[in-house]
Amino acid sequence: MSHRFKRLYPYLWRYRVAIFWGMVCLVATNFLEIRVAMLVGNGIDMLRLPFGPFTGLQRAALTLFAVLVAGLAVGMAVTRFWMRRLIIGASRRIEYDFRNDFFTHLLRLSPSFYDRYRTGDIMSRATSDMDAIRMVIGPSIMYLTNTVTVLPMAIAQMLAISAILTGLVWLPLITLAPLFYYFKSRIHRRFRRVQELMSDLSTYVQETLAGVRVIKIFGREAGRSRDFNRVSDQYVASNIGLARLQAVFIPMLMLIVGLAVLMLIWAGSWLIIHGRLTIGQLTSFFLLLNWSVWPLIALGWVLTQIERGSASMLRVEEIFRQQPDIAPAYDSQKADVGPAPSPAIPIKLCGRIEIRDLTFQYPTAEEPALRNLNLIIEPGATLGLTGPVGCGKSTLARLLARRYNPPRGSVFVDGVDILDWPPHELRRQIGVVDQEPFLFSDTIAANILFGSRGDGRARQYADAAQLASDVDSFPAGYETLLGERGINLSGGQRQRVALARALGREPALLILDDALAAVDTHTEEAILSGLKQLLKGRTTLIISHRISTVSLADEIAYMDRGRIVEQGTHAELMALRGRYHDLARRQQLAAEIERTA
Ligand code: ADP
Repeated sequence: MSHRFKRLYPYLWRYRVAIFWGMVCLVATNFLEIRVAMLVGNGIDMLRLPFGPFTGLQRAALTLFAVLVAGLAVGMAVTRFWMRRLIIGASRRIEYDFRNDFFTHLLRLSPSFYDRYRTGDIMSRATSDMDAIRMVIGPSIMYLTNTVTVLPMAIAQMLAISAILTGLVWLPLITLAPLFYYFKSRIHRRFRRVQELMSDLSTYVQETLAGVRVIKIFGREAGRSRDFNRVSDQYVASNIGLARLQAVFIPMLMLIVGLAVLMLIWAGSWLIIHGRLTIGQLTSFFLLLNWSVWPLIALGWVLTQIERGSASMLRVEEIFRQQPDIAPAYDSQKADVGPAPSPAIPIKLCGRIEIRDLTFQYPTAEEPALRNLNLIIEPGATLGLTGPVGCGKSTLARLLARRYNPPRGSVFVDGVDILDWPPHELRRQIGVVDQEPFLFSDTIAANILFGSRGDGRARQYADAAQLASDVDSFPAGYETLLGERGINLSGGQRQRVALARALGREPALLILDDALAAVDTHTEEAILSGLKQLLKGRTTLIISHRISTVSLADEIAYMDRGRIVEQGTHAELMALRGRYHDLARRQQLAAEIERTA
């Protein structure tokens, strides 16, 4: 195996004992096979002389041969069983560990990684490519070792029988080397293409399923089906291309092997006629050749598997090479990864936020989303953030939750640069509610308490999120199972479950990012006034385009194109008669029209 599989070495090492004994069994199996070939040859030679009825001695000797051959066959069965069991078993366990590590790695990666890679693509790497890699670990190791051990043993025995014959038989077999070389890179390339198309296909399926409701509403089923068929056609075509290549490769191998057998019969009979070889020796030779042919064909197969595996390995390796932007240097779960957190960092957050001249640009964006932003939120204060769509409100929230890295020296939490905070610690004390919250297919209680089972606490947080009466109206209450992403709840209910979940963490800093957009104004007011009690002493950032939502905040910032353009209390901003005032007037007017209509 080459350096392309370097990442697998530690895993192989972990299961070295099983692999070692598996290989011992493999060598034993081959050794027994060769013994059988020799015994059969000797037995046949016993039959030749003298012609006529068997003597008692011959009879006894032949019986002994038969018993020995049968005994060796039983021995072979046992060693072959253990060889497969140990090696294939180890390969399955290596696959298990490797896949788990892949998954853990995925969880460590930052959101920016998920901006770049599509879900379906990642999934196909985690499944289909992993399978191809597993085939290299188990069967390929086994057959490769088999070939490597059988061939020298068989060739040594062949040479012992007849050097000329060995030379003649191996002449055609040598042409295998360039053949292998020719097919190697071609198989690699084609399989890589197949796997890439597999990624496209699973991305397409995944997105179609995720958006199936939108597709139905817009009546786009036929179009999606057509597009799917197109990608699927490409996948099939490239798979057939690969199959064609393999379909040529293996028969060519067989042809060359057939030539070798032809040589054996032709040259062998000539040698027998001239008294330089016995029939028994030819038989042994034939059996030996037969037993080296299978490993050779297996070698061809292994080669295709290794090329497939290495193409897949490149795809998996690409993901493994990705590092989280936010280095887990202080991740408390992986404390051995980097330096310990500085003792100066207070473990309990007060929730003082200071933003100094912050300019931030998304890695994939052309221009900054935030420009020269300055802001201070005192512990326990509530800041309302409003402004037109795309002005950078959510970006600010994402930076505070450290979903992206701001430049050093621009965002401070409790006086410490956010980059110096252990991300794990920080996130534990920050509650974020998004506009489109993600809920898991679990019970409402489990979603609120995020993993733990329902008890009184779920109710307490649901109360604060004005969700309790909704939940009480469900027959199963807090044990109601949510469909995928909470599909059986209304948008407003989903947002309130997410809010209850954020409250359940008892965060020192709560960020509501347009979190109540789907909740009606009346409920929203009830929630906000309830939160005022619950969040006493906690810092809150409320992002909304609704004036009614932000107006309750201690202080309000109005953003435009990445900058804060107006800042003050509701009364101050109204008195200013600027952008905030315009927005408030417009919303008031719209509400009045709605009421009278
Ligand atoms: P708001 O929340 O005020 O509507 P956002 O903070 O979501 O605005 O977006 C601010 C700007 O950043 C927009 O121009 C948007 O296109 C851009 N943006 C948002 N998210 C990303 C992202 N993940 N990658 C690149 N650009 C983004």
